[in-house]
Amino acid sequence: MNKKDPKQFTEDFMSGIIARNPGEVEFHQAVLEVIETLSEFMIRNPRYNQLKILERMTEPERVIMFRVPWTDDSGNIHINRGYRVEMNSAIGPYKGGLRFHPSVNLSIYKFLAFEQVLKNSLTSLPMGGAKGGSDFDPKNKSDNEVMSFCQSFMTELSRHIGPYTDVPAGDIGVGGREIGYMFGQYKRLRNEFSGVLTGKGIGWGGSLIRPESTGYGTVYFAEEMLNRKSDSIRGKTVTISGSGNVAQFAVEEVLDLGGKPVSLSDSNGTIYDKDGIDGEKLEYVKFLKNVCRGRIYEYAEKYGVEYYENKRPWSIPCDVALPCATQNEINSEEADILIKNGCIAVAEGANMPSTYEAEHKFLDAKILFAPGKAANAGGVAVSGLEMTQNSMRLSWTREEVDKKLKTIMRDIHHMCVAQGKEKDGYINYVKGANIAGFVKVANAMIAQGLV
Ligand code: GLU
Repeated sequence: MNKKDPKQFTEDFMSGIIARNPGEVEFHQAVLEVIETLSEFMIRNPRYNQLKILERMTEPERVIMFRVPWTDDSGNIHINRGYRVEMNSAIGPYKGGLRFHPSVNLSIYKFLAFEQVLKNSLTSLPMGGAKGGSDFDPKNKSDNEVMSFCQSFMTELSRHIGPYTDVPAGDIGVGGREIGYMFGQYKRLRNEFSGVLTGKGIGWGGSLIRPESTGYGTVYFAEEMLNRKSDSIRGKTVTISGSGNVAQFAVEEVLDLGGKPVSLSDSNGTIYDKDGIDGEKLEYVKFLKNVCRGRIYEYAEKYGVEYYENKRPWSIPCDVALPCATQNEINSEEADILIKNGCIAVAEGANMPSTYEAEHKFLDAKILFAPGKAANAGGVAVSGLEMTQNSMRLSWTREEVDKKLKTIMRDIHHMCVAQGKEKDGYINYVKGANIAGFVKVANAMIAQGLV
């Protein structure tokens, strides 16, 4: 193998990954994106390769899979599958969210856990990386059914986690309600009130700004990229996908910075509000999604705006796009349309929302492109701050947490610029984030011996 050629390095490494993890296409995609931006750096710094750091980083430290039996309100028994992929603990306890969604599988959790390792490293907080959850679908379930599931799920998961071991949080399908039920069950089993989960409620160990942090952080990052080009969100038309926690607070921050958010979506379709989603409409979205657990087409009916059934927002002309729904939600054709329509910046609020091809379209067009592990790191960063507050047994004010979040997002942006600058001056944020995230974890692994 010619280790001097970055392309060959990537191909050789990926053939090993594919052979070792057959069929895990999302995991392959996440690893490929990292390896191809790291290959040059790896050739220049052969020590990492000699010590097989990348081989170690792509093999989870531990994978836990378990049965989750529960009963619905009619007394029927259901069996779901629970997962926790504990990927890397070199720089701190495993940390990362739980996703409850019928589509999940081991490949998806491994991609998410792998991304999480580098993302958590970028926050500069002492957190390793993990991800987990279940194929349980919280949609159309009663509160009692969700509680029954969460209690059963935590009964097994509790053996594997702890405030110094592994600290889960929310992700798709897991919000404040689910964290509450899981925290309650952990406390009963362990007889211990500790910071074992983040995203807890205010008043029982949660941090202010945690619900807002992923959405706010994504917009702070987009603003940093634009500011560097002497531009800003002000006056910009912004398309946003999703309508959950990340999307809602992305809308809020875009409004705060003087931009015009025009879209939201869910798995059934997209709303396009030409006049802009204002503060009052956003309050309705929060009520619709968080309290009524309704569908986004109800927004279109209420405000008489356009609704695109089974479509995503990327054909709507915009200056800035914030994909905040899920993985692979922008494909190659949609990336072409965004570029053709004059989009100048994409910041990923979700994890890996652009397909491999879409990401390359954005990079080739040299528009501002922030990968999720940098742009959406604000969520886990404030989770890290929640852990700090729990350890100190105190709570910081909104202003204190928000200030720290802003500083963290600005620092991540700086790191990406420092490591991602190309010869022509273009900032490849993907490369910057991957190198900056990798070096800290790799050096910690080396210092800790063969782990
Ligand atoms: N699920 C979020 C993420 O993708 C947050 C994880 C956490 O707070 O631990 O980063």
